[in-house]
Amino acid sequence: MRILREDVGCVVLLVAVAVSSAPAQRVALQTQRTWRFESDHVCITNAFPGARLSDCQRVARHEYRLVVRPENQPVNNSAWYAFRVDVQEAVTLTVHLVYEGGRHRYHPHLSPDGRVWHVLSAERYRHDRAQHSATLTLAAVVEHPLWVAGSALIGVADLDKWCQQLANDRFVQRAVVGQSLGGRPLHMLTIGETTAANLVFIISRQHPPEVAGTMALQAFVERLCAKELLARQYRQAFTTVVVPLMNPDGVMQGHWRHNNNGVDLNRDWRLFAQPETRQVRDALLKVAAVADARPFLFLDFHATHRNLFYTQADQHETFPKDFTRRWLVGLRQRFPEYEFRRHGSHNPRGGTSKSWAYEQFGIPAITYEVGDRTRRELIDRFAAGAAEGAMKLLLAALAGRAGAAADSSPCGGGVCH
Ligand SMILES: [Zn+2]
Repeated sequence: MRILREDVGCVVLLVAVAVSSAPAQRVALQTQRTWRFESDHVCITNAFPGARLSDCQRVARHEYRLVVRPENQPVNNSAWYAFRVDVQEAVTLTVHLVYEGGRHRYHPHLSPDGRVWHVLSAERYRHDRAQHSATLTLAAVVEHPLWVAGSALIGVADLDKWCQQLANDRFVQRAVVGQSLGGRPLHMLTIGETTAANLVFIISRQHPPEVAGTMALQAFVERLCAKELLARQYRQAFTTVVVPLMNPDGVMQGHWRHNNNGVDLNRDWRLFAQPETRQVRDALLKVAAVADARPFLFLDFHATHRNLFYTQADQHETFPKDFTRRWLVGLRQRFPEYEFRRHGSHNPRGGTSKSWAYEQFGIPAITYEVGDRTRRELIDRFAAGAAEGAMKLLLAALAGRAGAAADSSPCGGGVCH
């Protein structure tokens, strides 16, 4: 059995992370461990990137109590868990997921390889809302491990590979704009056929468990990079700046919400006390400081209980004017099967990226929240459509701006002789 070769029984393996130049971290890094139950021929481990499992106790033969704790408290109830089971004979396990500092939230997803995932069927899953726990019935086989997590895993290495693949296109540049507290690079993609100073900013994954937001970001950005005429016209006119992974330490260590300082990055866009937010802010401001730069749109991809867009209210002035209302009305008409809400407000003291971008640039600044239970196919299709809708509106806004400039010229927009 593969795991037993790696396994060191119940010896604790501590993961060392290079932080020589970084300030002291306030979050105790999760200890990587494998719990080996020899009489059951079962191993349960958290020794892989993105895992979250704090303790594991045997209750009875093939029945276990798994304890999941957050990185620090208080914390939003994004009760992420991820672990792997290896067995020496085909068995059916009963697993009780219990939480300290939170309650069960994410429906279990299973995978034989950590890449292809499916949802655990309802008859094998009981969510005890009174106890805040869940009981899973898991069929494990000898042929491959069984990965169990709160969603499909899209981790640091996956996003790194995705960025590399995009950067194969001549119109995509990749750069490192800083590093996390744990010393991991913060990558930025710059997408554009020209050095157009019309700017769109996109960020994601401030919150580690919000994989569905990453799925939407990927489908959205891939549509911006498509070969079709609309995308080519868009890339001729606009430069898109993408920071797909704001919190690599949290994603790597399976945090529920925070960075290595135990801070919610999406509440730090006012104080900028964290290196991740500070460096990304500086990178965006640097792009926006070039001559003739004109930001048009800011998007921050997340996931929550339901599909939702946090936007400014319609009475809040933005440039381009009325973008958000038109964009979302268009999407609702085109994708009636994708139910979503819109919440329009502006809280300058909230410390969110959305508030900062609106205050800084006066542009539509939108938190794009994907529902935890939204199907992957629908996430992808809607996000690609959202990119198409955005590109059309942005090109129209640019044409309108050029028209308005001509209107205000001495020639009044007519032919100037
Ligand atoms: Zn979030």
